[in-house]
Amino acid sequence: MKTTVTKLLGDNDPEPVSIISKPGKIIFSGPHNGRSVPECLPPFMGTNENWFNNAHDAHDLHMDKVFTALDKSFDDASLIWGNYSRLLFDLNTMPDYAINPRSSENGNIIIPANQTDQCCTKQRSLRFNEIYCPYHGAKTQLINEKRNEHGGVIVIDMHSFTPTWDQVKRNVEVGTIRCEKTPLSQEFENYLKHMQDEFLFVSGEPYRVAQRLSNAAALITDNNDLQYLGLEIRNDLIATDEGIDKIVTLLKNITQHLSQPEFIDVTKRRTEISSQIPPKHDDIYGSCPIL
Ligand SMILES: [Zn+2]
Repeated sequence: MKTTVTKLLGDNDPEPVSIISKPGKIIFSGPHNGRSVPECLPPFMGTNENWFNNAHDAHDLHMDKVFTALDKSFDDASLIWGNYSRLLFDLNTMPDYAINPRSSENGNIIIPANQTDQCCTKQRSLRFNEIYCPYHGAKTQLINEKRNEHGGVIVIDMHSFTPTWDQVKRNVEVGTIRCEKTPLSQEFENYLKHMQDEFLFVSGEPYRVAQRLSNAAALITDNNDLQYLGLEIRNDLIATDEGIDKIVTLLKNITQHLSQPEFIDVTKRRTEISSQIPPKHDDIYGSCPIL
């Protein structure tokens, strides 16, 4: 008998998105925190368990522990994160590019549950409707709630990255993701530049979103009228409790700094500060080649 799959998530599967809402205008979002796979799909998306548990392709390593620490340390910042592996449907990617048939870091590794025999058009739309839309819908709702309460928001998209690429060590410890220079991105980066004794910060490293049309940053910007900003942390820095404490302290200090009345523009909608955004050709970062 032919059966038609009409649902992806079952009763025993976790919700697609978790939210801890607290007073205050700060929101930390973690699109790659999750590593769950729905029961109806092969465990670990059909990949090797050990590879999956350690692969940046599957989730941002240690970011779930950073969020636990943020929850303990902040009583004035909200948290939102996705619970499913990015291999299922990458929340930080435009929908057409959000299902990878192969590892993006090692093209020899295929993702069995993402091959066309297992991931048909129907399966793709189930993942979009039950994983992607709930996360981004909940994020928009949270942003709107905080704007209504506080007149503005500061949203920081949190990511971790691998210490090496193509077996070459990356010479950066913390970096930013942005599409353009906004008051938020500029003040955030100014602060990180002053912290160079503690963290090796390089603007726009390790990823240059401005050149990646598949990245969802532009979509998130448009959907939420947001000054989009992401923070990238090298994952070996948050592999220990001490390392996580150091990052949480950095985030405490930086959000307190940004909350000062003189930096009110960092909390505003993008359309409110659009006259302060330099044209792309004046933005040295935006015009750099991909490294
Ligand atoms: Zn990430």
